[in-house]
Amino acid sequence: MKGDASSLASAQFVIGTAGHVDHGKSTLVRALTGIDPDRLREEKERGLTIELGFAWLSLPSGREVGVVDVPGHERFIKNMLAGAGGVDLALLVIAADEGPMPQTREHLAILDLLDVPAGIAVITKSDLVEPDYLELVEAEVAETLVGSRLEGAPVVSLSALSGEGLGALLVAIDAALDRTPPKRDLGRPRLPIDRAFSIQGFGTVVTGTLLDGALEAGTEVELHPGGRRARIRGLQRHRTSVSRLEPGTRAAVNLSGIRTHDIARGMVLALPGSIAPARVLDVYLQAAATLSHPLAHGAGVTVLCATAETEARLRLLDSAALARGHNAWAQLVLDTPIAAIRGDHCVVRTPNETAAGGRIIAINAKRRRRDHAPTLAVLERLRAGSPEEHLLDLLLSGPVAPAALPALLGEEPAAIEGVVQAALVAGTVVETAAGLASTVWLQAAVGRARAVLEDYLGQNPLRSGVPREHLRGAINLPLSAFDAVVAYGRALDQLEERPGGLVAPAAHSPRPSASQQAECDRFVSALRAGGFSPPTGPLPDPAVLAYLSEQRLVEDTGAGVIFEAGVFAAMVVRLREHLATHPTISLAETRDLFSTSRKYAQAFLEHLDALHLTRRTGDLRTLR
Ligand code: GDP
Repeated sequence: MKGDASSLASAQFVIGTAGHVDHGKSTLVRALTGIDPDRLREEKERGLTIELGFAWLSLPSGREVGVVDVPGHERFIKNMLAGAGGVDLALLVIAADEGPMPQTREHLAILDLLDVPAGIAVITKSDLVEPDYLELVEAEVAETLVGSRLEGAPVVSLSALSGEGLGALLVAIDAALDRTPPKRDLGRPRLPIDRAFSIQGFGTVVTGTLLDGALEAGTEVELHPGGRRARIRGLQRHRTSVSRLEPGTRAAVNLSGIRTHDIARGMVLALPGSIAPARVLDVYLQAAATLSHPLAHGAGVTVLCATAETEARLRLLDSAALARGHNAWAQLVLDTPIAAIRGDHCVVRTPNETAAGGRIIAINAKRRRRDHAPTLAVLERLRAGSPEEHLLDLLLSGPVAPAALPALLGEEPAAIEGVVQAALVAGTVVETAAGLASTVWLQAAVGRARAVLEDYLGQNPLRSGVPREHLRGAINLPLSAFDAVVAYGRALDQLEERPGGLVAPAAHSPRPSASQQAECDRFVSALRAGGFSPPTGPLPDPAVLAYLSEQRLVEDTGAGVIFEAGVFAAMVVRLREHLATHPTISLAETRDLFSTSRKYAQAFLEHLDALHLTRRTGDLRTLR
């Protein structure tokens, strides 16, 4: 099935080459594209071009595809990885006169580890052998592919010198790409940088394969790790300046506001705040088909992911060693952080060989227990689970804004929409002010909040609740998530909010000890006995006083005068009666009304002003 012209024009694909040294990869790229990768390299060195190591070709369908060329063996792995999520089709190149070689098999094994979606076996130098012999090589190549991802892939023979068979290869590439889905667009672009250099008159330029979203000129970007900011001055694709690049494109990005020596291969360019560096990777590792020495738990290894490379410690979670033909759960503890995300592929190398590879299942997880069935079950669900399970697992660490889900789950927004709706209907997920939250997480957070409240109120039995900020600090949540938890706890009738910014377990009331109760009773009786002129000292313990105020057993004017609550209420009634027959009342009149001293009258009146019961004008008060 062929796409229409517009989707052909917009879908971006990248092809990579693999195969034994001298089997004709560069010659093939030159023949296909008319672009000499060596000349590009030279031009770059002379500062003439900002593209390097990749060319592009036009297919019979009209598609233009980028080609990553791969000189040298070590570079092969890095270039394949540079295209991780970027290389859509691998051309496995085998020279007719030599047939499959050890390196052919190793590259094939690596294509497997990287899950490269499609491949074509290309037998080059067909002009060097007789047709009968060529048939034998074709059979041997098909045999070599058995058991690999390329099993059953097309085998095309050609001569890059005479051009015979090149047309058939172009048709085969087109057919393979017809079946390749367009690059995912998660609305969160990232560009793993494979090269950074400066060009006179332009300044800093980085190149890489754009993943997961589009980039536009003028956009502010961030480089990870490190988080340095820069701005996109210009974009180039296939040596043409453009204002926008779609995901999947081999891109050259001209940056302003950053120096070339602040950028290194392996960094990732992304929108500000959209990516966090990873220090720990949980990976389901597959041993390379060519692995010769088993990988042991605790080994120091090199991890390659996209264009990044770092030393790491290998922790095998379900075995002591990983041997050829096996898989293992592993946690890779990286020496330096890399900007990888869940779903990315990584490759593990020892000094001698490419040992294993696999997909990253989780990032920055806690230190996992080894040989622990529940841990392995969680990992297995993360690996094989449905999108619903991934959503619920993700939300187990807290609410997430719906707009952030595509990037976190590695799924297209349209696919996530349905999953979220189903979870909302099922009641496993609810919408909160902080975003989507799992009810399991909310219940657990309410439980933690209750534990903190009970602990605090156990130590402070006279308090009717706990200040919100104290509780939020104790359960360590951002404000929006905290609000969502309190609201959920209230809806469940487990939490209550109290005046004064307090949170309490539902139905909580303060419980003074016997001695505190005695102190309360003594103090309140003394105040009551004092009537309109209550004693002003000695005061009870501040916690006891706060409790008495909160319980409305006393009225604290805040001016050193505390009335018993019943006395205070009677005073207010008497003042109202007075003002029913007089327009105003003065301080002296108040003093006389209660046969008290000026100190008490003044504290009483000022407290009424503060309570907005009276209004003061000069020395006179009126009712509000
Ligand atoms: P690479 O190391 O895989 O990139 O191999 P190269 O492209 O550098 O080719 C290695 C050698 O094989 C060069 O001398 C090429 O000229 C030669 N070569 C490549 N393709 C063909 C072909 O189709 N026919 C013949 N006769 N020679 C070829």
